[in-house]
Amino acid sequence: MDNCIFCKIIEGTIPAKKVYEDEEIVAIEDIKPEAPHHLLLIPKKHIVNALDLTPADDALVGRVYRVAASLARERGVDERGFRIVQNTNADAGQSVFHIHFHFLAGRHMAWPPG
Ligand code: AMP
Ligand code: ZN
Repeated sequence: MDNCIFCKIIEGTIPAKKVYEDEEIVAIEDIKPEAPHHLLLIPKKHIVNALDLTPADDALVGRVYRVAASLARERGVDERGFRIVQNTNADAGQSVFHIHFHFLAGRHMAWPPG
């Protein structure tokens, strides 16, 4: 998708610190970390947000969660815990309109979120 910063990161035309990649998903370090571990799990397919998902994406979303669990174990934050956040549209604060899942860990996180 033209003019999509995450598509460009996936293509490699914009640099990012990749920490994981498979055929369907890339994980990068967030440029403005809000926790000691702040990764973005980004499906390679250009999906806008949760409202743009179709039944064909069901397995992809499941895979995002399994990759998150695996990254949590790898980073030793599985027992203490982590948070997965997907912001959809304005009230949630979505700023990049290519679906991504924030992986946050390494500090206590308040509930409810702000
Ligand atoms: P959201 O507000 O949920 O759409 O999240 C977008 C996230 O992308 C924010 O946490 C930004 O800090 C992050 N972000 C934006 N541009 C980049 C980039 N070039 N590399 C890494 N993270 C980015
Ligand atoms: Zn995109």
